[in-house]
Amino acid sequence: MSDSANDESQRRSGTEILQSIIDYLPSGVTLFGPDLEMRACNARLRELLEFPDELFRDGLPSLRTLLHFNACRGEYGPGDPEELTEKAVERARAMQPHVFERVRPNGRVLEIRGTPLPKGGFVSIYTDITERRRAEETVRHVRDQLTEAIEFSPTFVWETDAAGRFTFLQGEEKLLGYKPENLLGLEREPFLQSEDEGSQLAEVRLAMAAGQPYRGLALPFVRHDGGVAWLASSAQPLFDSGGQLLGYRGVDVDVTELTAIRKKLEQLALHDSLTGLANRHKFLERFELELARRGRTRKGLALLMVDVDHFKRVNDTWGHLAGDASLKAIAQLLSEGVRRVDLVARFGGEEFVVLLTDIDPASVRVVAEKLRRRIEATPIVALASEAPLRLSVSIGAVALGANEDGNLTVLIDRADQAVYAAKTGGRNRVCLYPEDLRAHPESA
Ligand code: GH3
Ligand code: MG
Ligand code: MG
Repeated sequence: MSDSANDESQRRSGTEILQSIIDYLPSGVTLFGPDLEMRACNARLRELLEFPDELFRDGLPSLRTLLHFNACRGEYGPGDPEELTEKAVERARAMQPHVFERVRPNGRVLEIRGTPLPKGGFVSIYTDITERRRAEETVRHVRDQLTEAIEFSPTFVWETDAAGRFTFLQGEEKLLGYKPENLLGLEREPFLQSEDEGSQLAEVRLAMAAGQPYRGLALPFVRHDGGVAWLASSAQPLFDSGGQLLGYRGVDVDVTELTAIRKKLEQLALHDSLTGLANRHKFLERFELELARRGRTRKGLALLMVDVDHFKRVNDTWGHLAGDASLKAIAQLLSEGVRRVDLVARFGGEEFVVLLTDIDPASVRVVAEKLRRRIEATPIVALASEAPLRLSVSIGAVALGANEDGNLTVLIDRADQAVYAAKTGGRNRVCLYPEDLRAHPESA
């Protein structure tokens, strides 16, 4: 074989190798010379653009032929095919690098990337990005749906970094009045209140310190206007692939109204509506707690049964409203006469019960006497139009030492016996169970 024939065969096999390579590319590829004649093209291009074989029957077609074919089949939209072809040829002659997307009449989306070559001509790469566009569209759609769902529900979605600073917020403005820029980069913690009754911030702190998730914990969040929004907060930790804590992602639901209703219901369920004192139910709850606590504090407790003397006369003389006003006044005198840790309850009628906690049995009489004297000494304004009343109470007291067994039924029964002794003993006095009962054996 001659040298030139050898060269020619090498060139041909080189071209064949290149052709095989470009035929296996996932994108369509064309190469045009400076004369706008096609130098190369792969099978994928013909497939993507649905170029029929006739176009390639006489070898590679020129750019103008291809553009004209496209214009005629509506690839460039409506318009005169000759004009559309001319414009497209002009653009190609300018040979500027370009990237654009074209939606084909069959609905497929192509990304077309043209790069001029240093010695003239250009390469165009056609990539079918239909699936990518669909996926992006789906992601956008789902994100819009979620955003809408958050915005139209009493929900606040957030993320923090490992230091507890907000890195993402959605839905906060409608609940809390803050714009994202008010909160982004700030720590969440200072906006949460631990003092409010019912706040579960302590539990949240514990979970977060341990990198644990938490669910439905009640948090009072200080709003932009200074008010408090109650949120039922749930969150989970976010970790990187190495197990390092990245932060937390949470969903907080506004439960401000529910919390207010719950507190109101609790108040109604656990308190006496006339005096605002604890009712029997709340008293029982508290008593059980104190009974259990007693073992730990090694202190005793005491129960005082307080019964207003001759109360029927108040109603009979001044009417029921004056009676109610007197009961309120006595309730207040009792509450203010004991420590905050003690509990005064109204068991019904004109009978009150006082739970004294952390008390040494020897002090019970002193406290009871102080209460009795306080009521005896305080004029009670039951009717604005009348002179203040003087009322007195009989108090039955029973103590339970730190190590003594006891239950409420037994203690109340003993306190009742002691009140009875106080009544039969002349009223306006304190009787202690059991010592003061011995003087009145008929009441024991
Ligand atoms: P004693 O010294 O023996 O305790 O005499 P008393 O009149 O206080 O005792 P009694 O149990 O006979 O009468 C209690 C009265 O308390 C009768 C009832 O009408 C009145 N009372 C009970 N509950 C209320 C209330 O909610 N409001 C008013 N105004 N009176 C009440
Ligand atoms: Mg009574
Ligand atoms: Mg009475």
